[in-house]
Amino acid sequence: MITVSSLLDAHWYERYKTISKLNIRSSIYDVTNRCNLRCKGCFFFSSGEHQVADEENDLAQWHQFIDREMARGVNLAILIGGEPTLCLDRVEAFYKKLPTFCATNGLIKVPRDRFPDLMVGISLWGDSADETVLRGKDTFKISSANYQGDPNAYYLYTITPKQLGKTEAIIAKIRDVGLKVHMQLLSNDEGVDGFSWQPDELVAVREEMDAMLDRYPETVISCKYYHEVITSGTMLGRRFGWMECPSVTEPLDRRQPQPKRLIGFIRWSSNLRAMHRCCTSETRDCATCKDGAAHMSWVMVNKRAHIKTAKDLQNWIEVYEMFAKLYRFIPW
Ligand code: SF4
Ligand code: SF4
Repeated sequence: MITVSSLLDAHWYERYKTISKLNIRSSIYDVTNRCNLRCKGCFFFSSGEHQVADEENDLAQWHQFIDREMARGVNLAILIGGEPTLCLDRVEAFYKKLPTFCATNGLIKVPRDRFPDLMVGISLWGDSADETVLRGKDTFKISSANYQGDPNAYYLYTITPKQLGKTEAIIAKIRDVGLKVHMQLLSNDEGVDGFSWQPDELVAVREEMDAMLDRYPETVISCKYYHEVITSGTMLGRRFGWMECPSVTEPLDRRQPQPKRLIGFIRWSSNLRAMHRCCTSETRDCATCKDGAAHMSWVMVNKRAHIKTAKDLQNWIEVYEMFAKLYRFIPW
């Protein structure tokens, strides 16, 4: 019988043991329905998720809700929105109680005296020209000034087809401000002309992502198997999509047969009662989904399928390590 230990040498087995202990149970929370930007292609606004429910404005309700979430086993809160930094009291309610990650556009600085080690992921959609087209503003100028050298912040760089050949300049800029970067791909939920991926562009972007990881290993948090899976939409001969997705809200998940999935995962709306379908757009056609977290989770929940060859299992370990680094369960 093929076992984990039969496939790994001592070095890889040690890495495997470290991540095996983690047992991460995440859920995602819309902190607010508001944002100080309106990006074209924002999954939240384009799918009408901001209109699903009114925000809960009573901070005491947030505290009670977080206690209930912890009681059902959540040990990683991923805060999104809207823009969470518009509601720092709600962010603080999570931060005080459990490991918390805050996605932000970086325009408002999370005050470090109040949130010394809150993990912050700053969204970036390209160079200043693309950012101006898609987001109406060159956010890097502001976010990099806010977070320069911050050991608990990194960029979440959404690569668009227009960024082909230009990613190195962005990654070098991020290195130069003393931050790290994780790469993901735009899903173009609002069909902006020229921003939907063509098959040849996906091949090219995979090569470019690989090259960036080789050239900037101290700056880029990634691994080549993640690049392969997210650009090809396939894993071990299986195609990503609705019937494979691990990031569907558990109480709403009626799929048969049930795929391997994130245990207990819920994406909560900001009224703390309504749930969204999944970790991203309520209305996205799953066949076009390029969501980075869903793809990496897809790999992670399918460990058994990777216990086949040493290379397959090492690939799985690298994706799990990448996830654990992004949420600070293991050091960078
Ligand atoms: S900053 Fe984020 S939440 Fe706000 S509009 Fe842009 S993508 Fe949407
Ligand atoms: S849109 Fe993406 S993350 Fe959401 S259910 Fe479909 S495949 Fe999963």
